[in-house]
Amino acid sequence: MSKWPIGVFASVDAGLGVHFDVVKELGIPSIQLHAPHKETRTQEAASAFLAKCADANVTITCVFGGFEGESYANIATTARTVGLVPEETRAARMQEMKEISDFAKLLGVDAVGLHIGFVPEDTNSESYKDLIETTRELLDHVKTNGQNVHLETGQETADHLLHFIDDVARDNLYINFDPANMILYGTGEPIEALKKVGKHVRSVHCKDGTWAAEGRRGQDWGCEVALGDGDVGMENYLRTLNEIGYEGPLTIEREIPQDPVQQKADIGKAVSLLEELRTKILG
Ligand code: MG
Repeated sequence: MSKWPIGVFASVDAGLGVHFDVVKELGIPSIQLHAPHKETRTQEAASAFLAKCADANVTITCVFGGFEGESYANIATTARTVGLVPEETRAARMQEMKEISDFAKLLGVDAVGLHIGFVPEDTNSESYKDLIETTRELLDHVKTNGQNVHLETGQETADHLLHFIDDVARDNLYINFDPANMILYGTGEPIEALKKVGKHVRSVHCKDGTWAAEGRRGQDWGCEVALGDGDVGMENYLRTLNEIGYEGPLTIEREIPQDPVQQKADIGKAVSLLEELRTKILG
């Protein structure tokens, strides 16, 4: 693939991604795929999906894990329910993430992504230490499948994420950078954060958002909006990706599956915007 192929976050039967028909209709050459439900993570389903991708000339670049019981209703609920952080579901979800890695291998994909959740602030706590061990066990399994793990950004500040990656100390842990999440969760200026974590970034989301009201950031959600309409600053974002030497796909995320008509229209516009900026920046 040439530098910065356009991509989109897609779903089969789970997650907030766009349906494959839209990927095909818009002629988008790469996708990140939200892992389907357990019942559909089979060799048969993988082969059928790969045939669809081959037919539409689509490459799958990363498979994202998500879990039953996760809720993004508000920031507090997200902290309580998302990723490997919640202790009561940690072991079971780690096991499921290993299965998702096995399914990604059936698809020939060398990266799996996830929201790990709100990493505990107190790095001396038992919960933090156990999270490090859990993450290492997952990474070691993923490595046997020839894969890396990409952690989605947003729930931590750039510094806290760097500290966590350092503590895990494995060579197959990287970052999926999502600039809008930094704004939506109120965890820091995205461009500044991208410069800090740049060397760990192996995949990115092109998503946009607006900050929550001053004084409410980190407590209230910001608002996810169509690419180019938010506070990220897409040209500055792409120029910064170029500066850090990122060459991978530009994967659009538009998380409004409840309105598929608008979702498709916004993704179409995002493709045009990214193509225009790519030409402007790369020449
Ligand atoms: Mg994202």
